[in-house]
Amino acid sequence: TPERKRKPDWLRVKLPTGPDYLRVRQLVDTHKLHTICESGNCPNMGECWGAGTATFMILGNVCTRSCTFCAVATGRPNEYDTDEPRRVAEAIRLMKVQHAVITSVNRDELKDRGAEIWYQTVRMVKETSPETTIETLIPDVKGNWDALFRMVEAGQEVVSHNMETVERLYRGVRPQARYSRSLEQTLRTKELGKRTKTGIMLGLGETTDEVHKAMDDLVEHGLDILTLGQYLQPTKMHHEVLEWITPDQFEKYKEEGLRRGIAYVEAGPLVRSSYHAERHVNVPITP
Ligand code: SF4
Ligand code: SF4
Repeated sequence: TPERKRKPDWLRVKLPTGPDYLRVRQLVDTHKLHTICESGNCPNMGECWGAGTATFMILGNVCTRSCTFCAVATGRPNEYDTDEPRRVAEAIRLMKVQHAVITSVNRDELKDRGAEIWYQTVRMVKETSPETTIETLIPDVKGNWDALFRMVEAGQEVVSHNMETVERLYRGVRPQARYSRSLEQTLRTKELGKRTKTGIMLGLGETTDEVHKAMDDLVEHGLDILTLGQYLQPTKMHHEVLEWITPDQFEKYKEEGLRRGIAYVEAGPLVRSSYHAERHVNVPITP
């Protein structure tokens, strides 16, 4: 029904404008960088970019996967650009970013899953901006645990990997991913001594029980930080929004997550995995 499709009021946000937003936009353009903020049409661009924060996407803007919620193009990516780590580091330095979020497309065709570029990017950012804290939102390494090790060893403060949805919906939402494998990736990240984080989108048809089950699984797999936000459909070709989760329901989920033992839960209609990310660097790493 048209009623269901109409966005509720709590999702309306201001269009990005203002001098700080424009300054970031210009830097992103001149350095030929990709941001997930833009490709995902993120509703928080005004707020985040206005605050001098952006999520950089490395390893190109073509992905080997076809998640049905995602606006990034699927295909066979080109050779990657070995100069990208330097350009990202340079942009972060010029933007005076205090907390950088870096993510990438999936590069399943690469033997190392892109881990070397990941490593170099984090290392160069730390070298050129030693005060800048970093979250790396890494892809599914598809069980290549050597690649995981390389991706997380350059000194970033937070390592996230998004579950995106509950187990039952994986086939329709993340067809090339496996729920258990993503859980294992979180556990192995924790075993490497890292602060772990994941994001789940709501409104894809999941039930409350299924979300609680995912929380329990994540606690068992060493999760420190959870973000829960409303899924928004990037285009008509993408997965439909099946439910608008109310701010109240988000609040309940947050309480449930904390009660179940997750150290930090960020939940709300506009929450994205990189939203308020600067607050996550000090979350204690649970044993
Ligand atoms: Fe970018 Fe994340 Fe902020 Fe959205 S929430 S604008 S994706 S940094
Ligand atoms: Fe999008 Fe990431 Fe899925 Fe690729 S792996 S389609 S970038 S969500």
